[in-house]
Amino acid sequence: MNEPTIFEKIIAKEIPAAVVYEDDHTLAFLDVNPVSLGHTLVIPKVHYRNLLDMEDEDRNHLFATVQKVSKAIIKSGMAAGVNTVINNEPEAGQVVFHTHVHVIPRHKDDNASTWVHVSNYDVGQAPEIAQKIKEAVSA
Ligand code: 5GP
Repeated sequence: MNEPTIFEKIIAKEIPAAVVYEDDHTLAFLDVNPVSLGHTLVIPKVHYRNLLDMEDEDRNHLFATVQKVSKAIIKSGMAAGVNTVINNEPEAGQVVFHTHVHVIPRHKDDNASTWVHVSNYDVGQAPEIAQKIKEAVSA
């Protein structure tokens, strides 16, 4: 059994968090180091390393809460739109190994872009790459 992550300690109320929503399956709380004010993390109560190993039902509960919280952030006036981001595995920026979805409030011209475009396709390369992924999806 691995050492519980910080998020499992938050679920167990062993450490505090600014909770914005909780139900039987999920918990949503403010990120302690926000990209923008109201930046919220949504997590399943069942432990998974990240999105890639989630069971369908738990994943569906998670995304129902992500949608609910995203709409609430906009309704509360905290944002005009949101980015919903999951970092899966260290190479993609994952630091805490309990599935979590970042809901990042966004405003016009806030310069808080979460994407940097550093790649371009060579001529003919996009169809080849699409085919490779397509084959893996159906394998
Ligand atoms: P990751 O890079 O794994 O996708 O994101 C982990 C996030 O968890 C970071 O944005 C970080 O600020 C947040 N975080 C780490 N430790 C804590 C904590 O103890 N409490 C809260 N509320 N957020 C945390």
